[in-house]
Amino acid sequence: MKNDKKAHLYKEAQAQKMDDYLSSYKILHDGHDAGEHNLWCGPGWYPLIIEMFEELIEAGWNKQFSQIKEKWGMLTVYLDSYNDDLDSILQKYELLSTKVCEICGNKGKRRQIKGWCISLCGRCAKERSL
Ligand SMILES: [Zn+2]
Repeated sequence: MKNDKKAHLYKEAQAQKMDDYLSSYKILHDGHDAGEHNLWCGPGWYPLIIEMFEELIEAGWNKQFSQIKEKWGMLTVYLDSYNDDLDSILQKYELLSTKVCEICGNKGKRRQIKGWCISLCGRCAKERSL
């Protein structure tokens, strides 16, 4: 029980850090607020998202996105515009995310749990299956 609370607080702190990070992308967003509702994935993938954003910017991305989420166990990001370079970066991270636990960030793989396809490490998968 105590560990649950700790894990929850850690998760909240991570989410706050990610919100702060993403706020630098809000400015260029077209009109509506790119707040917490644009981020729908677990904290285990946050470092991956930051790495991907840096790479996208280097490839000329305009820092505008509409949503980041988990879909079929993969990290999925909707940008406001696309080209071949940006597409291949998105695809690369889609694939990378299937090897990282979405909850804790450890090495993971895609699994079928209670009808959901989700990328998790062995320990998180076990907790999720209970
Ligand atoms: Zn895990």
